Amino acid sequence: MGKYFGTSGIRSRIGEFLTPELALRAGRALGEYLGDGTVAVGRDTRVHCDTLRAAVISGLTAQGCNVVDIGLVCTPTLGCYVATEGLDAGVMITASHNPPEYNGIKFWNSDGMAFSPEQEREIEQIMDGDLEYPNWDEYGEVVDDETALNVHVERILDEVSVDGDGLRIVVDCANGPSAFVTPVVLREMGCEVISLNAHPDGHFPGREPEPKPENLKDLMRTVRATDADLGIAHDGDADRVVFVTEKGKFAGYDEVLALACRRILEEKGPGKVAVNVDASMVIDEVVREMGGEVVRTKVGDVHVAAAIREEGCIFGGEPNGTWIHPNVHMCPDGPLSAAWMVSLLIEEERPLSELLAEIPSYPVVRETVECPDELKPKVMRLVETRLREAYDDIDTVDGVRVELDDGWVLIRPSGTEPLVRITVEAESKERARELGDEFVDLVRRCVEEVRE
Ligand code: MG
Repeated sequence: MGKYFGTSGIRSRIGEFLTPELALRAGRALGEYLGDGTVAVGRDTRVHCDTLRAAVISGLTAQGCNVVDIGLVCTPTLGCYVATEGLDAGVMITASHNPPEYNGIKFWNSDGMAFSPEQEREIEQIMDGDLEYPNWDEYGEVVDDETALNVHVERILDEVSVDGDGLRIVVDCANGPSAFVTPVVLREMGCEVISLNAHPDGHFPGREPEPKPENLKDLMRTVRATDADLGIAHDGDADRVVFVTEKGKFAGYDEVLALACRRILEEKGPGKVAVNVDASMVIDEVVREMGGEVVRTKVGDVHVAAAIREEGCIFGGEPNGTWIHPNVHMCPDGPLSAAWMVSLLIEEERPLSELLAEIPSYPVVRETVECPDELKPKVMRLVETRLREAYDDIDTVDGVRVELDDGWVLIRPSGTEPLVRITVEAESKERARELGDEFVDLVRRCVEEVRE
């Protein structure tokens, strides 16, 4: 975590940490970092997006960069546009799945990949330095381009099967920009689309923008009531997708990701897929069966993207529904993933619940232990030492992950709260519970020992 950038760009409640002044400074720093060039700027539906967009654009042009304002778009629309049009960078004004009072600024590279933590550190240094203004005739220009959504829609349609005749699909757009992409794509694919929360509104009157089961009751009900074949939901900026089966049941995050991995390996042959350390062991099982290999990354889509690039993976994702299809672009793309899933149903001619029934599902236990922020580094070092004494298969990509014969345990400090988080997955509920208790105890003892 840096001074301004957190786990996903600059983000806070509007007016608290993220202000128009900070947005101006961030825009100027990106302009200085790039030297010159052309930058696309997009925004989601939040009511303060226009203010922040104006500030970022002002900062960029004040350092001599030209700007293409692509308006109200999904984050993957921005990523796709920057990559397709060969621009130098992108800026997205969004707070993703956070409540309406939040907003954020995230930077993107020319290939549609988010700025790495190293790049963000460089931007922070520039933000804290003195910047000079250019000559009067060296300020940048701003042009509007309303075609970005079309570019995205076309790019998705190039990738999927277009014969969804007879499929009825309910799409919950979260009052976000996905309303301009996912329903359009699915109709072009030949599906009948029923859309929910498809009017853009930054107050999010339909539901909270995080696509978790408790926020998707309307979607589940509508799938059942309309006898639909599938339900789809996005978060506020549509880099995420989740699914509801034709029975109106929320499709498990890990099981759907495992299904996607299996299909990609079927299509493209054995290869590597990247998932974060928190993803289920069902992914390992499915990928191994298909002759593929799993690369584990830190939690966060930027880390998954980096691993895809470094390891040459053919697919990557996180259980929360951010999936990256590197053959298209490097930004997690909810509408593309949604169309891809519909394409799978079209080709298989079987409902999602049936496909998911072939994927095993394992019980997960999540626990927390209180730990003051300042003790976290010492506690984590001690936890690692204790675990290395007791176990052979330890991974420290993000926190400490212990691989067991019948499951795994992940211990990570929380990035936002004074807690250490413990995730356990095992083959049976009893075993998961037992491991949960055992590791909570171990972490508690480490916290006490460090305190003394
Ligand atoms: Mg998002």
